[in-house]
Amino acid sequence: MKPKENLPTIYNKGLSSHKSLLNMQEKLRQIPSVSSMLMNTRISNLVDEFSSEVITKIVQNTLSEIRSTTNCTSEIPTISEIADQISDHVHTNWSNWPRNVINATGVVIHTNLGRAPLSLESMKAATDSSKSYSDLELELISGKRGSRQVRVSKLLSALTGAEAGLVVNNNAAALMLGLSALALEKEVIVSRSEAVEIGGGFRIPDVLKQSGATLVEVGTTNRTYVEDYEREITEETGAILSIHASNFKIIGFTSTTSISDLSNLGARRGIPVLHDVGSGSLLDTTKYGLAAEPQPQASIAAGADLCFFSGDKLLGGPQAGIVIGRKKYIEKLSRHPLARAFRIDKMNLAALTATLIHYLKEETEAKIPVWQMISATSDDIRKRASNILNKISSNDLYSIEVIQTESTIGGGSLPGETMESVGIKIAGNNPEKLAANIRNGNRPIVSRIEDDAVIFDLRTVLPNDDDILATVISENTKE
Ligand SMILES: *Cc1c(COP(=O)(O)O)cnc(C)c1O
Repeated sequence: MKPKENLPTIYNKGLSSHKSLLNMQEKLRQIPSVSSMLMNTRISNLVDEFSSEVITKIVQNTLSEIRSTTNCTSEIPTISEIADQISDHVHTNWSNWPRNVINATGVVIHTNLGRAPLSLESMKAATDSSKSYSDLELELISGKRGSRQVRVSKLLSALTGAEAGLVVNNNAAALMLGLSALALEKEVIVSRSEAVEIGGGFRIPDVLKQSGATLVEVGTTNRTYVEDYEREITEETGAILSIHASNFKIIGFTSTTSISDLSNLGARRGIPVLHDVGSGSLLDTTKYGLAAEPQPQASIAAGADLCFFSGDKLLGGPQAGIVIGRKKYIEKLSRHPLARAFRIDKMNLAALTATLIHYLKEETEAKIPVWQMISATSDDIRKRASNILNKISSNDLYSIEVIQTESTIGGGSLPGETMESVGIKIAGNNPEKLAANIRNGNRPIVSRIEDDAVIFDLRTVLPNDDDILATVISENTKE
């Protein structure tokens, strides 16, 4: 029988020959009683720390799990073995989570590691908003009910030139809301090259289906022209949707239709043009030696009716889905029932607001971690790497050196683009094991393995964590 997921795994140990002679009843008698378990100090410590009812329950369930998996050859675990397992289970699963990890992968926006770390100001805004009541939906002047969207809409307008803005849970929700509000039971025209999967099972054709819209694919995988869209416009057309290819690149003989051509077409035929830019960088990525990432403000300037992007990718803020564009459409989205279902919470809204203010103050490189990382020069990073190396004592087991390496942006932004970076390389026996030990430690550090060596790319390590990195590497590589 498979252990239940919410119970610690107690493996029955294999048979030992003299015990195999005992019969089943004898086995069952060996299983400790609940009261004897509760007298064990590790269990009584848990009772002191947590609810005694819950701990008693988990003890009972664990014992009945052992009972139900016992056969005449099982070796029954001792009280202290069971207590250890329960205690480990409780301490692993009933502690604050997610745990902080140090990202030494060199992938700036790493979805598995929680995407963008927040600026101090954003973090503070989120905590402030949560520790007390707030005027989230109350106009203090009139005393009347307000909208949580009013301020952020104004900030987004100021930053992008859009008439209005709306924020929801994440960009997937934003897109779903936009399509549901504008194209329910209508057709949505999408280029064949853009009817893609964005990651984590988020596929454009499925999103359309869920929104109650019908996908009409036009063009070919590599080339789509504005005439291809125009030919498919009928009475049934609800929207034209363009999606930025955020996690792949089609190279060679390709042609895509510009947003301004699509917007002209949409305007001429009275059809809203929706542009999902994915990451959406308010800053010009080419200034950092990277390829151009679509900018939401450029999308609006080119005439898109609505532009969609994430809060926690290149914007460098909390998880959020941002929609900017024409007021009449933003209002339509706000009134849709899904807007309520996808509503952003106050902590994220506060953090997003603080992040947007960094842009208005032109202090992105100084304040927003994602932009600090992207704008860091190899020289800056090399200095940090040398300092770290100096703090690590060398030995014969591993060769540890500073190397040049390449970081990527990740998180559905700038596929195929790399930035020159600097890291610490540790070569020696069994790099996978070393990387796993370091990942499983008290201060987990996630590295990458390249050419049989463990690489810690320092571009994505927050400079405050450099000392921890040095200590953890020292501890794990000493003889
Ligand atoms: C990442 C991405 C999304 C989904 O955004 P989330 O904020 O993760 O929900 C949608 N569209 C594109 C093009 C993306 O790159």
